[in-house]
Amino acid sequence: MDLQLLDQTLADRGEPPFRARQVWAWMARGVDGYEEMTDLPAPLRRALARELPFSSLTLENEMHSADGTVKALFATADGRPLEAVLMRYRSPPGGGSHPGGRTPPGGGGGRRSVCVSSQSGCPLTCAFCATGSMRFARNLTASEILDQALHFRRIEPIDHCVFMGMGEPMMNLDAVLAACEQLPALGVTHRRTTISTVGWIPGIERLADSPMPIRLALSLHAAEDSLRSELMPVNERYPVAEVIEACRAFYARKRRRVFIEYVMLAGVNDRYEQALALARLLAATGAGIFKVNLIPYNPTGSGFSGASRESIAAFRDALQARGIPATVRLTRGRDIAAACGQLATGFSPAAR
Ligand code: SAH
Repeated sequence: MDLQLLDQTLADRGEPPFRARQVWAWMARGVDGYEEMTDLPAPLRRALARELPFSSLTLENEMHSADGTVKALFATADGRPLEAVLMRYRSPPGGGSHPGGRTPPGGGGGRRSVCVSSQSGCPLTCAFCATGSMRFARNLTASEILDQALHFRRIEPIDHCVFMGMGEPMMNLDAVLAACEQLPALGVTHRRTTISTVGWIPGIERLADSPMPIRLALSLHAAEDSLRSELMPVNERYPVAEVIEACRAFYARKRRRVFIEYVMLAGVNDRYEQALALARLLAATGAGIFKVNLIPYNPTGSGFSGASRESIAAFRDALQARGIPATVRLTRGRDIAAACGQLATGFSPAAR
């Protein structure tokens, strides 16, 4: 829903200002259409249905993974493709919520996390990521970002949001932050919202200035510049030391631990010495600032292969032994190409 257009449409019809809040409150609770907004006069509901698209996105396709993950392919009004993902986690016995195993669709009652796109395609060209190989179209608007989350909110309640879909959120930060401002109405607090970046320093600095306590995640993937530049050309512009310094400043400002994402590529960045180099880099910046998420590589047809389970575990142990908290990310939705790095319209794992 385009919230500006909503205000405009209601104002044009001479409706009082509280109407927009009423409509938005229904939207955010996940109703399927204007007809369900029962405290609006029926003629107004009909008029809205005629004049104001319920979503700025059209659902083109939806895929369901065996692990409960759902991937949605949307088109914008001008025909640009994008994808978003709903991840369902089983709650462990005894309550709380943390990543668990298989979840029956709709069941489980654990964490419900939506992974949204900030751009259609991505202008950056990380070597291992499928999104970088599709054509970059444009930044998404705040409404187009929010409508991804609303789509899943209409399926079931949600409580986490990660900007880890297509695109680089820091290159579209105004729209991303405008969408974040509305997320609490959908059940997603700022503390449960994470923005992931390749290390776009101006964006990290602006997020540090935002009053919203949003979490920052950095896609690092290599501790030294030469390798990182090979994997992520953006490193030429924002090299490791400067990016890590921006994260340190973010932590100093917000007191929120920064997550380091590190995709484990066999024979490329998964060696023991590389774990030690990463531990040195992070430890030198200060204790308690970083937590490392090791991401098993998801096939994208890029020519890389994933590190073995054993080398991922050894890498994690080496970090932990040096006081750097590290976990291995649970892979979700790989069978429907919904996992990290696999979002690209037209990409299907079976076709490669
Ligand atoms: N542009 C932002 C937001 C996208 S997040 C960023 O890069 O942080 C998507 C995450 O998935 C990033 O950490 C990215 O590096 C990671 N990723 C990309 N390709 C991957 C792959 N093939 N396997 C596993 N993770 C991958």
